[in-house]
Amino acid sequence: MPPRKPSAVGSHVPVAGGLVKALAYAREIGAQAVQIFVSNPRGWAPSAGDPAHDEAFREDCGASGIAVYVHAPYLVNFGSPTEMTQVKSVEAVRHCLTRATAVGARAVVVHAGSAVAGAHRDEALAQLRTLLLPLLESAEPDGPRLLVEPTAGGGQALAATVQQLEPWFAQLDHHPLLGVCLDTCHAFAAGHDVALPGGMKKTLDALVKSVGRGRLALVHANDSKDPLGSLRDRHASIGAGHIGKDAFAELFRHSATRGVPVVVETPGDASAHRHDIELLCALRDG
Ligand SMILES: [Zn+2]
Repeated sequence: MPPRKPSAVGSHVPVAGGLVKALAYAREIGAQAVQIFVSNPRGWAPSAGDPAHDEAFREDCGASGIAVYVHAPYLVNFGSPTEMTQVKSVEAVRHCLTRATAVGARAVVVHAGSAVAGAHRDEALAQLRTLLLPLLESAEPDGPRLLVEPTAGGGQALAATVQQLEPWFAQLDHHPLLGVCLDTCHAFAAGHDVALPGGMKKTLDALVKSVGRGRLALVHANDSKDPLGSLRDRHASIGAGHIGKDAFAELFRHSATRGVPVVVETPGDASAHRHDIELLCALRDG
């Protein structure tokens, strides 16, 4: 296998004002990878997008070597007992995959989901098979992948720890389009002590053991405002939280992240994001 290129580093970028603005923002902060929403992240309504804008974005990102990812709306939950949520989750992810193709995205990120309090987690997990497997089987085999992102935990999370990805993948027969997006803040909140020297390595080793090599396809690099195991999802700038920057140097040193794009979802404006990207690039190259 030829050696893979070092990880591209970038950021989630706002799409308010359209994809042209998103691309300008990416250039301003020096992002080599971007994550975007293709519809209201807190609603169900799909956005058709403008085919001309989608194409221009795809071509410009392609020409600039910027890797593109789409994040599905937050309401998507394949573990929900509510039929409307189940149906709308399928529709939303199908729509994201279509728009992902249009904008040249490599993958769609979806949260691992949760069962409601008191519900049977096993039943919620089994829904992954009935709801999501047909979607994966009808998707283009060379189209965008679907990346499951473990959540910060709490309640009846279907996958918060990397070990909990194993049954998630098993329900979907380890479909070839399935991958993982690891959020460092979520992992820390769920109890993986990535702040401890060797902790990030241990977490990534466990992830590979859980779902196999080649499945980790994106990293959300976020520091955490809350301590280990908090189950809280409050992102901090790189090095400004309880995780600390050394953990991110360790992240880049692991073979599982080699060539895997890393994007921040940190607070602040463009200058804060530029600073996070510069810091991560220095940790990657240092
Ligand atoms: Zn994330």
